[in-house]
Amino acid sequence: MKELNFKQELTAAFGQPISENPTQVMVEAAYRHHQLDWRYLTIEVGPEDLESAVQGAKVMGFQGFNCTIPHKVKVIDYLDGLGESASLMGAVNCVVRKDGQWIGENTDGKGFVSSLRELTDPQDKKVVIFGAGGAARAISVEVALAGASSITIVNRSPSRGEELTALLTDKLPCSADFASWEDTYSIPSDTEVVINATSIGLFPDLDARLDFDPDSLLSSMVVADVIPNPPVTHLVRDARAKGCKVIDGLGMLVNQGVIGIKHWTGVDPDPSVMRAALEEVFG
Ligand code: NDP
Repeated sequence: MKELNFKQELTAAFGQPISENPTQVMVEAAYRHHQLDWRYLTIEVGPEDLESAVQGAKVMGFQGFNCTIPHKVKVIDYLDGLGESASLMGAVNCVVRKDGQWIGENTDGKGFVSSLRELTDPQDKKVVIFGAGGAARAISVEVALAGASSITIVNRSPSRGEELTALLTDKLPCSADFASWEDTYSIPSDTEVVINATSIGLFPDLDARLDFDPDSLLSSMVVADVIPNPPVTHLVRDARAKGCKVIDGLGMLVNQGVIGIKHWTGVDPDPSVMRAALEEVFG
């Protein structure tokens, strides 16, 4: 029963039944490459055991851990402090021991921004984000902290979209607006960065496409997709065909791992080793 739950969570995140945790494979590849005598373990913890698990990890000498759904919000109750973006998002995916205290960070959005910076500086950029779930929240907060001038949230369900837009408007130094996504969306021509933070295109829905006007996608736009599996989605393919600079979902996954490893071990790992390990997992 336990194993079934764990596999269901991996399937929800990566789209196909995967027996190995891709994050574990990626992080341990970095540990081996850098000859770090560390382990990254995948341990399933039920909601009723979360507090004991967090305390147990501390007394057993863990340097930190990642946590995923359904623990990203509740874990905050058992930590000693939060980093700035985790506090703004109200969600933690990475916990770090600092001076004997458990500090909660959110590395999803930071990983995304690291990938984005390889292509463009988010400072003063006009950004359109499809989606308003956990990934969109992490990315939009971090892109706003990195200095984006405006963020448009495009989402199917207005309530989630408006809630995220309100968070950005109220708590971050950028302007934000919500665009409802009932019909085909036309990307405004002055947009500089376009991000898919929905689960559209995740395996096995390989034919699924974002409903936007293809003529509104311009070669001047930087386009990013969060879907890690498959890394080459319709959006990635279409954007490359247009001549856009493109970031795929593996970039974000690798970079959040890079940030976690740096937090825990102090070592800056080689992202290319981590990406190669992930590519092997996803075939
Ligand atoms: P959530 O369930 O929290 O949010 C899903 C989002 O997708 C919502 O905005 C939802 O809209 C939208 N959506 C889903 N299906 C459709 C559809 N058919 N039409 C329109 N909108 C749709 O998921 P997360 O935000 O946690 O994750 C989203 C994706 O991000 C996942 O595929 C995950 O694999 C990926 N991800 C990648 C990471 C990486 O490192 N590369 C890290 C984290 C996530 P609505 O609100 O209307 O339901």
